[in-house]
Amino acid sequence: MTKKSSNVILTMLAYISKRGYYLLFLVLLACQPQTPISNGANGEKVTQNSKNDSFVTNKHNNTAKIAPKTKNKPTNSQNMPTIADTVNYLFSEKTIVRQLTMRGMIDVQTVLPNVKVDLRYSTTNNFVGTDLYGDLDQCYLHPIAVKKLQLAQKILSDSCVSCQLLLFDCARPLSVQKKLWQKVVGTPQQHYVAPPSRHSLHNYGMAVDITIFDESTQKMLDMGTKYDFLGSLAKPKYESKFLKNGQLTIQQVKNRYLLRSIMQQAGFRAIPNEWWHFDAVSLQQAKKQFSVLP
Ligand SMILES: [Zn+2]
Repeated sequence: MTKKSSNVILTMLAYISKRGYYLLFLVLLACQPQTPISNGANGEKVTQNSKNDSFVTNKHNNTAKIAPKTKNKPTNSQNMPTIADTVNYLFSEKTIVRQLTMRGMIDVQTVLPNVKVDLRYSTTNNFVGTDLYGDLDQCYLHPIAVKKLQLAQKILSDSCVSCQLLLFDCARPLSVQKKLWQKVVGTPQQHYVAPPSRHSLHNYGMAVDITIFDESTQKMLDMGTKYDFLGSLAKPKYESKFLKNGQLTIQQVKNRYLLRSIMQQAGFRAIPNEWWHFDAVSLQQAKKQFSVLP
């Protein structure tokens, strides 16, 4: 038997068998070539997206294009899954998605197919530089939040025909909140993340991190900072100060007003520290009436 055919049989067995897969993975690990990592043309770090063989750049700016995401079975250049991809495919995606759907969360794009999703914690393009979601790259939300988001998109479309909501983060299981906390605890970034013990409304599928994407320009509206910018410039409570001293332009502030206006009309609450974050209910209400996502 050739090495290639042996790989095929072992991989098939790994997919269909619920037992003994650890041994098979170890054998595959010994046989598989590693996924390449290279540098982009402009010196940007470019990594292979293990979910779909597409590529995502680590370019942090307001005009970065969204990498297309499709849910294909992960394979490498020899059309064989790497060990890491196989583990992700069998466990991470199924486990997180199953947990979310079992608890009644809804994939927003099944209801709002034109809404854009760029789940940053499912990539390395986030402030901790780590993929925390594995193969979860859909936006799941509680039905109450989905209904409000439908209204927000309708209000937005009424005032800007070419505009779509773009979601950076949605339901975030508590297990991921713990991973995120471990990344920042004891660092200056610590006060930007809710401790797992306190819960975030993302942990109930009741919060969104969101902006506006204009199809006519193929760009996000300029909000004055990138998403997850750690600093005062991202805080709505200081907007008038930064407008006066020229650190924010009138157009950037108008864009933030537009986002806040449509979200608040749809029933979301803005917060004073992040222009992109909106809550569908209060934390007290969520703790009283709903279950945290484990
Ligand atoms: Zn948020």
